[in-house]
Amino acid sequence: MIINETLYRELSKEIPELEREIRQFYKTLDQKTGLHGSTLPITFGYETDVVGSFTRSDGSCFHFSLLFLGSCVPNPLSISDRKDLYKHEYAHYMEATMHIPVEYRFRPGLHGSAWQYCCSLIGAAPTPYFEPGKGDKTYDYDRLLKKKPPLHPSAAAYRATQERKNKDNSTVKFQIGDTISHPKYGEGTIQDIKPLSSSVRLSVLFRDGLHTLDQTWLIRYQHGLH
Ligand SMILES: [Zn+2]
Repeated sequence: MIINETLYRELSKEIPELEREIRQFYKTLDQKTGLHGSTLPITFGYETDVVGSFTRSDGSCFHFSLLFLGSCVPNPLSISDRKDLYKHEYAHYMEATMHIPVEYRFRPGLHGSAWQYCCSLIGAAPTPYFEPGKGDKTYDYDRLLKKKPPLHPSAAAYRATQERKNKDNSTVKFQIGDTISHPKYGEGTIQDIKPLSSSVRLSVLFRDGLHTLDQTWLIRYQHGLH
């Protein structure tokens, strides 16, 4: 792209209209988020390598390159591309301003999980680099943010107990030929024992025939105790 005086002049004329477009759009995002992005300063430049940015030092500020946003450049951006760009920078503003739940802070970085979480709230493309057409795609934010927070200590203790129980259940506690009693089938004799990953399966011959049972459901028949 040749940047000459005429192009500069034409682009600078577009500033008021672009600023109005951005503020109007940020107002709709502010309504969703309860923030005040639409009141922040918006500056424009002629960068060839940066489409937009959000700065929080020296007061928060949005900045966009007219060489991308302007309508008098070759191949100007579509409105959905411009909006995605506005959302991208707004998500940076959100991350700097909002409380981000701890479970969404698992991946650090400028475009880390906290920023992606902000993107999910306003439907911004959760990818770091600008690319035409990204604003029209749909994104699976749940999958992107699926990293689960670490287990609460009580949940971790519960899981450890369950794992211990499972291990306990998989220990064979009977022998073939043992007599057992079952609340429904009555007395029976163990014919076969099959250890499984978290339980033990018993084949028991009762008065009405052969039944397959899990050993946890059985009460061992104690000779001499009845
Ligand atoms: Zn960015």
